[in-house]
This record gives sequence, structure tokens and C-alpha cells, in this order.
Amino acid sequence: MTIVYNNYNIKKHSTFKIGGNVKKVAFPETIEELINLLSTEEYDYVLGNCSNILFSSEYIDKSIILTEKLNKYFINGCRINVSCGTKGPIISSECRKRVLSGFEFLIGFPGSFGGMICMNASAHNQSISDSFIRANLYDIKNKKIITLNKEEMNFRYRESVVTNNNYIILNAEFELKKGNEDDINEIMKRNIEFRKTRQPSLTYPNAGSIFKNPANDSAGRLLDLCEMKGEKEGGAMVFDKHANFIINKDNATSTDVLKLMYRMQSKVKEKYTIKLVPEIKYIGNKGTEENKIWETITENIQKIQK
Ligand SMILES: Cc1cc2nc3c(=O)[nH]c(=O)nc-3n(C[C@H](O)[C@H](O)[C@H](O)COP(=O)(O)OP(=O)(O)OC[C@H]3O[C@@H](n4cnc5c(N)ncnc54)[C@H](O)[C@@H]3O)c2cc1C
Repeated sequence: MTIVYNNYNIKKHSTFKIGGNVKKVAFPETIEELINLLSTEEYDYVLGNCSNILFSSEYIDKSIILTEKLNKYFINGCRINVSCGTKGPIISSECRKRVLSGFEFLIGFPGSFGGMICMNASAHNQSISDSFIRANLYDIKNKKIITLNKEEMNFRYRESVVTNNNYIILNAEFELKKGNEDDINEIMKRNIEFRKTRQPSLTYPNAGSIFKNPANDSAGRLLDLCEMKGEKEGGAMVFDKHANFIINKDNATSTDVLKLMYRMQSKVKEKYTIKLVPEIKYIGNKGTEENKIWETITENIQKIQK
């Protein structure tokens, strides 16, 4: 049964460990319950593992659905069907057991399938779109379920058809390749090692890459050249091993993160005339001081993404 909380503190659900109380948060337990919520009530956001979100530390006057309980999956040969709330590493481990290749990059990856499909998540030369076959989505505007294939999903760098439409991913089907056990183990080992040495683990709460890579360049490289590593704003700090990550070092607030993002973006703009485009999404109230910083950060962003 769907559990709905009013005035619910969202902090523990965010990988940034930042966030205030939200007006209403619902946790559906089945896809049917999710569809029922979407068709009968108005929700502002449907979120998965909140690993790409900066929630405001202040009260958030919004209604949110969290899909974390929608974690069913079926595997039949090379075909995998996953519900939107299923987490990447669970499926990655299942694939390893069955010697299926294509999801090695999801080992140690914090996203849910809904979020990863929406963002076309990728790492280590693999992306969610590579093995994608089709998804069932709820079309909020027309109040109906639709099925979209890979072409119709219009996957791009950190975007898909879901990004700008009122579509909610319910479940999706993928087809992986029969692989080689040693190769899969080796790739996963390398991926875990890479994350351990170059990115913050979640013991330093963070939300992944702060900015998207501009065309033919890397946001981390530009920020590093601007000497942003280790820079602080309140409890937020630019990670000292990768300049495109902000970690919540000491009870950071959303305002700390936004101010630091603004400084990071301004430095790169000043030095390289490139306005970095945020990869993370901010959820807060319109008209507040931090909403104004967010609007400055996101205004006139160049469409020069990879
Ligand atoms: C330590 C760390 C490392 C990371 N490394 C990478 C990386 O290597 N590559 C990469 O691509 N990303 C990376 N990320 C970012 C993040 O994990 C991905 O963007 C991921 O795809 C987000 O999934 P999520 O479930 O957390 O989505 P959320 O953060 O909950 O939501 C992200 C977006 O997806 C939408 N969404 C979520 N569920 C649904 C649904 N069912 N239907 C429609 N829309 C939905 C939300 O509305 C929102 O717009 C990293 C994050 C962290 C914290």
C-alpha cells in the first residue's frame, strides 16, 4: 500500500544528505499504485535514488513521489525487465552471476533505473541506452501508458525524451550480451577502482558530477585549471581529487552548495568564456534567495554539450 507522509524530511534520501521538509512525499509499492497516484493527484516530481538532486535545506512546498519500493526485476536469458526504482548495482551483480555483459558500469553506481534512463546515465564507455530495448511510461498530460523504443527515447548526453516531457518511466526492458566471466570481473574491478581513486565515495555525501562536460572538453579539467579543488563555501567543499564534485563536508546547506557552484561556474566563464551547464537538479521554492542563485546559474546556458 502506498504510504504518504506530510511535512516529510527528505535529507536521508538524498546522496548529498541535504534537504529540508517536503510538503508531501509518497512511496508507492507497486507500479499500479504509481499509476494510480499519477492519474488521480498532481505531483511535482517523481524521483528515484535522489543521487542527482540538490534539495533545498528550507521547507519545500512540493509533492514528490519516491520510487525506491518499485524494485522488481525479471531476467530471462539475455533479456532483463526492471521496474523504475531498481538500483543499478543490484542488476549489475545479477548480470555478473549470469555472465551477461553491458551493465558492468553500474557496479557502484548510485542511480535507480528511472533516473538512469531519464538521464541516459553513462560511465566507462557504457551507457544505459546501449542495451535499451523499450520502456513503458506514463504520459501525465494525456493520462495514458505509452511504450517507447530506443529511437523514440531520443537518448542524448544526460538527456532523453523524458527530460522535457511529462513522462514517467514505469519499467523498461534491456537486452544484454553473453559475455566472458573473466572479462566482466576485470571490467567491474577496474570500474570500482576508478571510482575509489578518482571520485568521492558516499561517505563524503555528494550528487555526482556537478556540471555537464562542455563539447570536447571536461568540466573537471576546466575547474581544476581554475584551481577550484579544495575551495569551500560553508560546509560544502570542492572534492580535492576531482574538481567537478562538491562534497558535503560539514553539514552543508543547499545555499552553501549553490554559492560554491556559482563561484565554480564564474571562474570557468571568466577564464575560458564557457558557461558550464549544471548536471544536478535543484528542488526548492521559487522566489527564495537560493532559487535566485539557481536561476543565475542556469540562465542562458550554452547548448554546447557533448
Ligand atoms: C557518487 C556518484 C557518482 C555518480 N556517477 C555517475 C556517472 O558515472 N555517470 C552518470 O551518468 N551519473 C552519475 N551520477 C549521477 C546519478 O547517479 C545519475 O544521474 C543517475 O542516473 C540518477 O539516478 P537517480 O535514480 O538517483 O535519479 P534522481 O536523482 O532521483 O532523479 C534524476 C532525474 O531523473 C528523473 N527520474 C527519476 N526517476 C524517474 C522516473 N521513474 N520517471 C521519469 N523520470 C525519473 C527525476 O525526475 C530527475 O529529473 C553519480 C552520482 C553520484 C552520487
